[in-house]
Amino acid sequence: MTSGRPNTFTTEAVVLRHSDLGEADRLLWLLTPERGVIRATARGARKPGSKLGGHIDLLFHVKLSIREGRELHGVSQADTIDAFRAMRTDIGRLSRALYIGELSLRVSVEDAPSHAVFRLLINSLGWLATTENEDTLVRWFTLRLLTITGFKPEFGACVECGDELEPADHVFSAERGGLLCPRCRSQGSDVLLPAGLGSIKVLRHLTRSDYPAIESLIIGAEERRQIERILRSHTNSVIDRDVRSSAFLDEVRDWPDAGPVPGGLRAE
Ligand SMILES: [Zn+2]
Repeated sequence: MTSGRPNTFTTEAVVLRHSDLGEADRLLWLLTPERGVIRATARGARKPGSKLGGHIDLLFHVKLSIREGRELHGVSQADTIDAFRAMRTDIGRLSRALYIGELSLRVSVEDAPSHAVFRLLINSLGWLATTENEDTLVRWFTLRLLTITGFKPEFGACVECGDELEPADHVFSAERGGLLCPRCRSQGSDVLLPAGLGSIKVLRHLTRSDYPAIESLIIGAEERRQIERILRSHTNSVIDRDVRSSAFLDEVRDWPDAGPVPGGLRAE
């Protein structure tokens, strides 16, 4: 830019992460539709009475005016579109919201359009406030996010040879990104996770369905356990390290008073 004035743009965003910066500032990781993940500072956001402070909390859906910077952008104005307040008063729902926010951050790219991920995230945060079935929403979200970002696990055919799979129990390899037929499972030294026929049916159903149409899907305890392991290990292999919030999610599930989580859906 030849003029001395910095460029300013306005964007919707979801605050995916923040940390303290200096005396009173905040550093934000924001998911935006046009530019994917961007980082921006919010000057003075931690001062009492700050105009920005009340709008840029974790998982707020906001409208921002941003001054473009070479290394870091700067938030000059912020307005809340949706704070998803109903989800914040319930630790069970909030922990799941933090998990899907962290997952979105890990698989999104910086400075590339992310319209589909953005829309998926704000819709899912909205549903988290009211759904009767938070865990099914998280499983569905995970599969949809992986599909949008090009990391869809293969549940249809053998990921190695492409052969159709018999309707039977099979195994899943996170390393290879899908189910394996009996012939291919013996080749290779990767970790193989059990994928029973029931779990495979649920995974296929989740992958091709929309939320909230899938909300009331009933998943048995054994299937839940298998699906959880498959999705966790696949996600971890995609982002190549543990999602920070997944340990937190496990912790919250173990709390006896983790809020009104439907009894049949609690992790054992
Ligand atoms: Zn095969």
